[in-house]
Amino acid sequence: MSWTVKGVIARSEKQPAELVDIVIPDPGPNDVVVDIDATGVCHTDLAYRDGGINDEFPFLLGHESAGRVAVIGEDVTHVEVGDYVVLNWRAVCGQCRACKTGVIQYCFDTHNASKSMTLSDGTELTAALGIGSFAEKTLVHEGQCTKVDEKAPAEVAGLLGCGVMAGIGAAVNTGAIQRGESVAVIGLGGVGVAAVAGAKLAGATTIIGLDIDEQKLAAASELGATHTAVTKDLSPQQVAEKVQELTGGFGADVVIDAVGIPQTYEAAFYARDLAGRVVLVGVPHPDAKLTLPLLDVFGRGGSLKSSWYGDCLPERDFPYLIDLFLQGRLPLDRFVTGRTDLAGVDAALSSLHEGDTLRTVAEVAK
Ligand SMILES: [Zn+2]
Ligand SMILES: [Zn+2]
Repeated sequence: MSWTVKGVIARSEKQPAELVDIVIPDPGPNDVVVDIDATGVCHTDLAYRDGGINDEFPFLLGHESAGRVAVIGEDVTHVEVGDYVVLNWRAVCGQCRACKTGVIQYCFDTHNASKSMTLSDGTELTAALGIGSFAEKTLVHEGQCTKVDEKAPAEVAGLLGCGVMAGIGAAVNTGAIQRGESVAVIGLGGVGVAAVAGAKLAGATTIIGLDIDEQKLAAASELGATHTAVTKDLSPQQVAEKVQELTGGFGADVVIDAVGIPQTYEAAFYARDLAGRVVLVGVPHPDAKLTLPLLDVFGRGGSLKSSWYGDCLPERDFPYLIDLFLQGRLPLDRFVTGRTDLAGVDAALSSLHEGDTLRTVAEVAK
């Protein structure tokens, strides 16, 4: 059995994404068909559309989703039909060197569906981040489904599937922010504002939100920033000085770069206190190069860390973050700043960088 449903694909580089018929095959033994309710519009989808990830076109876009398990393969034990799940792109294998040495978040053999979804002419689709969920249904590995409390609406729950988790995790997991610490976050898009929320959750007492665009500051203030500043036209050194001014002249204990360009990284490097931590969560362009005085790297001590997907473990992190949301302690709903449907995904991708957008969510009509 297979299913023909609507899905949003990128057929070739830098061309508009199209809503077309796609075919979901019968699930393999450990695969699951999920009825998608809502999917957030992420920068990674834009990068796929525009050829910035690889050239394995056509792509089935979308990866930040919640939905309901519709059909399960014969060996699936992790979920049941009807389960309400958030999809993830870190279904860890438990067998590779990273898993065996306990750094499970670095698993290099994460699971995806065993079969490809296709166009109606049989052309195989590459699913974005192994998910492909700007669609009425998608096919994933059972480990890519994390059950969460049904009471969280799909447009909110789905955001944990990528960007919001990346930001919260950069603060809580990678940055390991402690109560009473000072934190600066550079770049206040969805990921950066989520890092602000994560810093608040962790008990940071000074949380500085920085962005070149003044429109981005309000959401950071609402979600926990104690100070905000516009960094337009400031050099990395001037950004660092701004952070030092707001932290008693020292610099922040943790600086999170949610942009990922050499200038913001340099600002983050100098904006942290002696022996502080820098966390890079913004994804750099492949051509970006960093130049820093090696003596400063040595002399300032501390640590320079990268955060992939917020160093999250979906089974550990998604359920408790949803619980915090339902308890009113983490306003995940504030991240939903726009709504559209599958037909509106291309326009939402093109307007990702505009105004005070945190996340536009594409909802599947039922
Ligand atoms: Zn592994
Ligand atoms: Zn994403």
